[in-house]
Amino acid sequence: MTGSGTVVLEDCHVATVDAAGSEYPAGHLVAEQGRIVAAGPGPAPPEYAAAGRIRGPGLLVTPGLVNTHHHLYQWITRGYATDDTLFGWLTTLYPLWARLGTDLLADAAAANLAWLALTGCTTSSDHHYVFPAGAGDLLEAEIHAARRVGLRFHPSRGSMNLGASAGGLPPDSVVESHDAVLAACQDAIDRWHDPSPGAMTRIALAPCSPFSVTAELMRDCAALARDKGVRLHTHLAETRDEAQFCRERFGRTPAEYIEDLGWLGPDVWLAHCVHLSGAAIGRIAATGTGVAHCPTSNGRLGSGIAPVRALLDAGAPVGLGVDGSASNESGRMIGELHQALLAARYAGGPLALTARDCLRMATMGGARCLGRDADLGSLEPGKLADIAVWRADDLAGAGIADPVCTLVFGAPRLEHLFVGGQPVVADGELRTADPAGLAVAAARASARIAGQPT
Ligand SMILES: [Zn+2]
Repeated sequence: MTGSGTVVLEDCHVATVDAAGSEYPAGHLVAEQGRIVAAGPGPAPPEYAAAGRIRGPGLLVTPGLVNTHHHLYQWITRGYATDDTLFGWLTTLYPLWARLGTDLLADAAAANLAWLALTGCTTSSDHHYVFPAGAGDLLEAEIHAARRVGLRFHPSRGSMNLGASAGGLPPDSVVESHDAVLAACQDAIDRWHDPSPGAMTRIALAPCSPFSVTAELMRDCAALARDKGVRLHTHLAETRDEAQFCRERFGRTPAEYIEDLGWLGPDVWLAHCVHLSGAAIGRIAATGTGVAHCPTSNGRLGSGIAPVRALLDAGAPVGLGVDGSASNESGRMIGELHQALLAARYAGGPLALTARDCLRMATMGGARCLGRDADLGSLEPGKLADIAVWRADDLAGAGIADPVCTLVFGAPRLEHLFVGGQPVVADGELRTADPAGLAVAAARASARIAGQPT
């Protein structure tokens, strides 16, 4: 199948997601030394005749999926507050999250990242914002988990510094001081951020939300990120409750508030953006600000349906995210394409999104949000060999007329996953870790964070 770092795929339906949307129904894709060297119709070039290969037909090849919003630690707090709003759900969960430590996060992150890999994700961001006092080096714990599973990883050093005693939503037990956050952000960048084109780890700064962070910290994180050349991420305009909070506290909409703080720009991507005015959509697009669309989480919490068609039409970069697993128990990256399609059509009719729109958001759109579109997001010579191979001819998919339709409308099964040309999933099985062992560890960690004896 592969030898000396060479990957040859042949007689597959190759959906490149290049600028023209090129697809090769019986095409090839070749990668060497971590990067794609050939993609096109027909057999692989003759110089690769001696290499082992993966052959279709019945296989669909796409760029690896990019997850633009997540909270990995939540894998061990799934199934709580299942019928509540965002604010009610958060208030239920904050006391559990206050027990987080490095061991618990390591188990949660490894299980969660393994599941992301098995559902087609090659690059995941993470927004970690819960740093209880004395919890240990949580960022290091999740970076080590990502290296173990083998995914490309963009952790953001999140933060909360507006506790309940100061008018914020979270209890004081899970917030940090302004100065401690800035020092930790600086340290995270210095220790972990890799600006190189093939980076496996990149840091972003991500104060959590308007209702858990002060305006001063938002401004100072933006200044630090821009000084260091890293990206900015936060939650915005997720619910009507948040809009009411911003109106009462700042006299602004969430989008107006964040623009006042210097938080719109091509180095920023925002999670959710469900409740936006037409003017806000225009400002987000005009500034090149990215949006992480999380339709399953928005549905799970009853938050609403984001105006994705309008954002795309205005030219905003839009990616997809599974969001934290406590508000998306399924955590399936490929499922987010299906959900995005349905959510857009519930609101906007059958033309609101196409299957190929969803595939583009989950790949190039995500790469743009993370600032990686020069190296990720499409299958073109020169790009990193982050590749998902899906089975389209099994019991679930056989006979569906269009392979990309199988991927988004149907129930596809991942066959192979490569990150930088390295196999992470092969023949449908995770090759970097033992899923059964990860599940046992996650169950034990779930009991511990719930305060149960183990
Ligand atoms: Zn989130």
